Amino acid sequence: MSIQHNLSKISKNIPSEITLVAVSKTKPIEAVLEAYKSGQRIFGENKVQEMVEKHEALPQDIQWHLIGHLQRNKVKYIAPFVSLIHGVDSFQTLEEINKHATKNSRIIECLLQAKIATEESKFGMSFSEIQEILDSEKLRALQNIRVVGLMGMASFTDNKLQISKEFKSLKTFFNTTSLKTLSMGMSGDYPLAIENGSNMVRVGSAIFGARN
Ligand SMILES: *Cc1c(COP(=O)(O)O)cnc(C)c1O
Repeated sequence: MSIQHNLSKISKNIPSEITLVAVSKTKPIEAVLEAYKSGQRIFGENKVQEMVEKHEALPQDIQWHLIGHLQRNKVKYIAPFVSLIHGVDSFQTLEEINKHATKNSRIIECLLQAKIATEESKFGMSFSEIQEILDSEKLRALQNIRVVGLMGMASFTDNKLQISKEFKSLKTFFNTTSLKTLSMGMSGDYPLAIENGSNMVRVGSAIFGARN
């Protein structure tokens, strides 16, 4: 199936108020361009270096989202252009993003990553850690970032009940905040995520094909 075909199929499955992030990690420039030509403008990458290279090579009206774990020493490379950072999992990272956003005279939007999966390997903070950041005076001092939402990844399992439970728990917590963006759902589970209140899905392989 072509990228164009996959995109139009997925777009039909997603209500128009939900933002689709096309996850192009590991895929070549040509693949991103094909999606771009079908009208897609938001792309997600999980590696800083790869995102910088693609940003330089591709049309400048693309909005680049960093979706993976972000190392603090790499923030400076993406600060000039990144549109949304999904995987922020510490206050120190917010401070670092703020520092480089300031240098670039920008305001960078961020999502805090919640750990909702049972697996040890997944990054993210507990709801109470997130709440602590949202409530802190220190956060208000960071004038060049905006925490606009939350992001979460469900367990890697076929158990739909388990996945739903994890998405639901994040949605319930999200509802207690005044944040606007809830990023959850990938190729395998985005319909479940949307059912459970997601308003931003990050879809890679269902658009671009399997990664090797
Ligand atoms: C790779 C990745 C995705 C997309 O995964 P697919 O299963 O290919 O849709 C979404 N979110 C994050 C954080 C990822 O690293």
